[in-house]
Amino acid sequence: MCIFCKIINKEIPSDFLFENGDVVAFKDIHPKAKTHILIVPKKHIETIKDLKEDEADEVLVGKMVLVAQDIAKGLKLDGYQLLFNVGRSAGQEVMHIHLHLMSHQ
Ligand code: AMP
Ligand code: ZN
Repeated sequence: MCIFCKIINKEIPSDFLFENGDVVAFKDIHPKAKTHILIVPKKHIETIKDLKEDEADEVLVGKMVLVAQDIAKGLKLDGYQLLFNVGRSAGQEVMHIHLHLMSHQ
């Protein structure tokens, strides 16, 4: 099982900010900005390249962005970055889709 699946299953402790049936969000263990949060689907999908053009994946990615928006609103962040690293050559280390939410605020 991958490290993010273990975090989702609570086998590895993490600093959770959000959880629902489809998506979790927790603090990045090595923050690259003052605020650095990862938004992760519970479904194990390795990379953005593996997303299917079906409604389930469309909805899932939409939910990830809306969770990011909701967390940013809760933290009163005015500006922030949302980033997917796609593939090892682009710097993706954990092969389970995650959206980085980063802010200097
Ligand atoms: P990426 O390079 O896009 O695959 O990003 C993976 C991110 O996961 C990095 O920013 C890591 O710091 C972060 N990370 C790795 N292990 C953990 C963990 N156990 N808990 C929280 N974040 C982690
Ligand atoms: Zn996984």
